[in-house]
Amino acid sequence: MSSPLINTKLGQGSVQNISILGSTGSIGQSTLDVIALHPDRYKVFALTANNSVDTLFEQCKKYQPQVAVLKDETAAEKLSQALKKEGLSIIVESGIEALEKVASHESVDTVMAAIVGSAGLLPTIAAVKAGKKTLLANKEALVMSGQLFMSLVKENNAQLLPIDSEHNAIFQCMPLNDSIENLSRELAPGKVYAERGVRRILLTASGGPFLNTPTEQLVKVTPEQAIAHPNWDMGRKISVDSATMMNKGLEVIEACWLFGAEPDQIEVVIHPQSVIHSMVDYQDGSVLAQLGNPDMRTPIAYGLSWPERIESGVSPLDIFNTKHLDFEKPDIGQFPCLDLAYQAMKEGGAATCVLNAANEVAVDAFLNEQIKFTDIAKVIEKVLSDVSFESAVNLDEVIEYDQAARQRSDEIVARLCSDYGNQKENC
Ligand code: NAD
Ligand code: MG
Repeated sequence: MSSPLINTKLGQGSVQNISILGSTGSIGQSTLDVIALHPDRYKVFALTANNSVDTLFEQCKKYQPQVAVLKDETAAEKLSQALKKEGLSIIVESGIEALEKVASHESVDTVMAAIVGSAGLLPTIAAVKAGKKTLLANKEALVMSGQLFMSLVKENNAQLLPIDSEHNAIFQCMPLNDSIENLSRELAPGKVYAERGVRRILLTASGGPFLNTPTEQLVKVTPEQAIAHPNWDMGRKISVDSATMMNKGLEVIEACWLFGAEPDQIEVVIHPQSVIHSMVDYQDGSVLAQLGNPDMRTPIAYGLSWPERIESGVSPLDIFNTKHLDFEKPDIGQFPCLDLAYQAMKEGGAATCVLNAANEVAVDAFLNEQIKFTDIAKVIEKVLSDVSFESAVNLDEVIEYDQAARQRSDEIVARLCSDYGNQKENC
């Protein structure tokens, strides 16, 4: 059987046409930075954004894609006018169907899935269904639809490459043929790597901005404090996820699906320097690690060029100034979200979809100052206990579970708001 990862459809030296979903975000911009270094290898087919007209306009001027997509129709009209004034004949479209279209268009070889959250699910699935080389940054899509997502990768002979820095690092440390083979096999979690000598995956985490904050002070932290990540420059949602360590929880789930592992085979290791981006521990005692400066252009470049390597613009790691590499176990009392993610993965079925939806609603409510930082885990825990979840076998069911979890999350957030006697208009 051919494998989703090894299916290199592009001949060496051919130019890859790329659609970047979420081009105005942190990952999207880093992707464009790497592409700009290699005009001979990569050509932008489509750029997309939620509503950042100005940034998308500047990107269109510089990269001249064939299509630009905005979520909102009015924003798309504004962009279209601005491009016409500039004398650029770029097609501008809006809405989810337009996103799906540029993700699956026959002229496209590679799709960078870098929309944040569940909004990325349908366009990412569209890329996979069209058998595209899919660079997966949008981890929420995989967390929502796990088994279905991986089955679609297989059925459609898509080539899936992890962009999340940890999964990219693990991919680099895995025996190449094993990781490829595993994904093409019957998704038997845990078995394949044990057979091939992998003992554990050591998934590193920086610990985020509150690693050393006393637990009792977490109740008071503000959105600004939560999004100030010590090592990585990222979007707001993933920054809050890093602060609660739900990001690591989502990554445990992501790693289970990508590498066919059981949750217990994935150990989270706090490594505050973010120099090691993850490790693979083999039965013979070898531990392979991938190191580098914390800069997403490295995994992006690896995803774009795999199995080759290209210049990414990232400065070399200054090994002599890398004085300390510290490791510690996460404190579940400090980071309950991590435990909730492990539980949801062990539960199986649509539990991770429910977890993801509750987290998105709770993070949004925290960023809008409707609930406290420590409420994020409470909302998720309550939603997981209130919403029933069985297996979601098709996309419609995934969306139904997502909607049901969001509705329940909204109710819980509203109740918390009124419990606080919160008179703010944002409640
Ligand atoms: P971001 O918030 O900086 O950017 C998100 C992008 O998605 C923007 O272009 C935005 O316009 C677009 N978008 C948002 N909502 C949308 C909607 N409803 N419809 C259409 N487009 C929409 O986020 P980011 O930090 O770049 O993260 C993107 C994804 O990559 C996330 O899933 C995140 O978990 C993952 N990721 C990010 C990093 C990082 O370093 N930033 C690292 C690993 C994984
Ligand atoms: Mg990561």
